[in-house]
Amino acid sequence: MNNGIEKLLFILEKSGKNYDLLKIRQAYRMAAELHEGQFRNSGEAYISHPIAVAEIAAGLGLDTDSICAALLHDTVEDCAEKIDLDEIKRRFGPVVAELVDGLTKMVNIPFADKEEQSVENLRKMLLAMSRDIRVIFIKLCDRLHNMRTLDAKPEHKRRITALETMNVYAPLAHRLGMQRIKHELENLSLSYLDPIGYNEVYNDIERKYGINRNFLEKARGQIADKLTEYNIHFQLEGRVKSVYSIYKKMYNQNKSFDEIYDFYALRIIVDTELECYTALGIIHDMFRSMPGRFKDYISTPKPNLYRSLHTTVIGRDGIPFEVQIRTWDMHHIAEYGIAAHWKYKSGEESGGDIDKKLEWVANLVETEEDTHDPDEFMRALKIDIFQDETFVFTPKGDVIALPQGSTVIDFAYNIHSQVGNKMIGGKINGMIVPIDRVLQNGEIVEIITSGQSRGPSRDWLKIVKTSEAKNKIRQWFKKEKRTENIAVGRAELDRELKHYGVAYTEAQYNTIMANLAKRLGLHEVEDLYNTIGYGGMSVAKISGKLRDAFDAVVTPEPPQEPLRDVSQVQLAPKVHHAKHFTGSVIVDGVDGCQVKFAKCCNPLPGDKLIAFVTKGFGISVHKADCINIAQKRAAGEDETRFKEAQWVDEYVSGQQNRTFEAVLHITAVNSYVLIAEITMALADMRVSILQMNSQNKNDSEVNITMTVGCKNLEHLYSIQARLRSIRDVLRVTRS
Ligand code: MN
Repeated sequence: MNNGIEKLLFILEKSGKNYDLLKIRQAYRMAAELHEGQFRNSGEAYISHPIAVAEIAAGLGLDTDSICAALLHDTVEDCAEKIDLDEIKRRFGPVVAELVDGLTKMVNIPFADKEEQSVENLRKMLLAMSRDIRVIFIKLCDRLHNMRTLDAKPEHKRRITALETMNVYAPLAHRLGMQRIKHELENLSLSYLDPIGYNEVYNDIERKYGINRNFLEKARGQIADKLTEYNIHFQLEGRVKSVYSIYKKMYNQNKSFDEIYDFYALRIIVDTELECYTALGIIHDMFRSMPGRFKDYISTPKPNLYRSLHTTVIGRDGIPFEVQIRTWDMHHIAEYGIAAHWKYKSGEESGGDIDKKLEWVANLVETEEDTHDPDEFMRALKIDIFQDETFVFTPKGDVIALPQGSTVIDFAYNIHSQVGNKMIGGKINGMIVPIDRVLQNGEIVEIITSGQSRGPSRDWLKIVKTSEAKNKIRQWFKKEKRTENIAVGRAELDRELKHYGVAYTEAQYNTIMANLAKRLGLHEVEDLYNTIGYGGMSVAKISGKLRDAFDAVVTPEPPQEPLRDVSQVQLAPKVHHAKHFTGSVIVDGVDGCQVKFAKCCNPLPGDKLIAFVTKGFGISVHKADCINIAQKRAAGEDETRFKEAQWVDEYVSGQQNRTFEAVLHITAVNSYVLIAEITMALADMRVSILQMNSQNKNDSEVNITMTVGCKNLEHLYSIQARLRSIRDVLRVTRS
């Protein structure tokens, strides 16, 4: 193995970037000196490892300080008696020293057991990373080289390292969009974790490629010809599926190797986005495409910034294969992820502005600081690493990671609560957008603020996705808008009480709210309104307590027994009359009282009246001279239960065309035509007969009791007169 740094310097020179080769040489010399006499498990001089790590870092396009740190990354750890960070800082500056420190801390922790080790390791790694993303880039390079040389390690160590790589580093590389490193880490890990499975799949792939070499070569040739024909400048890559990706598919989908149909893949790399779509059209023109297999990750990038077109087509030999189409820019992002982004940025700007922080890592470290349960931490980390997030940029190029579905408002509050509170608008990629616009990966978001802003709107609480934004908006309302909050909170509580449909007085309301506030641990009723007003507590959440407080104060009236018209006991068909009588009598000077007419005397409009307040049956109206009233008075009934009552004039005059019941007693000479004559007479007068009974008084006379419909007293008199005119009728009296 080459122990010098010629190869590294060659890579750096070839990159065309302005590396400080002198500084890098110095770092190499220092590392070589410090590691002098140390050897790796393979027997090689130790310095070969930092050089290899630096070479991988150079491949990622990392800057001079990163390359120096890569060369020095194991010195403080392995040569503590000869070197310290101050020395590195003095000779290479604070940035290199901090990177080396971050890398050293990741390995320098005593562990109780293996599970805890990887968790603890991870935590340190993330802590370091949240300070400077370059630490994680170098760490991944370090891990990759260790995996490449894992064979030299003793058997029991291989497995632990491979497992940690599969569980921690490969997902991290994926999360950062560094596909190339991710795939290599996965494949290497798998070859140690399941060597038999790995070899099986590996050999199957070799065999299948061997058998179908002609097919693939033919397809490549056909595509190349066509693209050239269309004047597209391209590069074609084959065999892009990794052993691990096929292995995982077989296990996840429980398929045999032969059932994996998107096993072949070609990759076309072109210059422009437009050419991607042109190439796609050409491919679909040449081959039959498989339905449902087309994915446009260019217009909708993956959360880790990956962009490409994917389609699966069926070759002319009937063998399906996947085609990935992307530009060089997309290819770099796909291979190197976030590292590629930094690479480009540092290329454009002079200072190598790599010192960026990843918000999500900082948040994670913050929230997991207190978690001591390794399982819990691992779970939280896995959720966080795999949770879909949206990466957007500030106008300065800082990366902000937000949960998917986050809006411009979330972005503003992520920057600073003052930015959110003073926001009056937002721009995405330079265009003004509504502030509730959902952010997409890769967008550059700019917040327009104004000192004149009146602050956030309550509606924002329903729009924002992050709890951070929600909390900050609530905080603002809590502090700034107490008066308004109180009004809003009170209105919400009022609305809730109205739903109960039970009347309450102002005094009762005040008591209810005071009790409720106390029960919720709030000092004043205003605090209750305020808390609901700014959204710190929802009415829905306290609805149970509100109801309890309400019921404790307001006793609902027992349901009133429905008024029953006494007449209905005998006159079932006339039930509807009850309501007709409403409003015909004035009781105690009050018009329209709900009354019923006493069956004992059947008052008619024109009769003098008296009202009696019954126990439980409302007000009954009697004739003033009713015998029952006289008896009640004689029995010393409470005088307040007797009320003055008068007919409404329209009823007395008969202008109201409504009928009341009148009971008549007729005494007549019995004859076979008597009943016929009576009914014909009443029919003649259009008087309805509601009830009629006849009973023989003796051999010659009969007593008839009948109830007729009658408008008023005058009407009654005319009915009586008419009946008396019948020859056999002797007497007609009102009961
Ligand atoms: Mn190392």
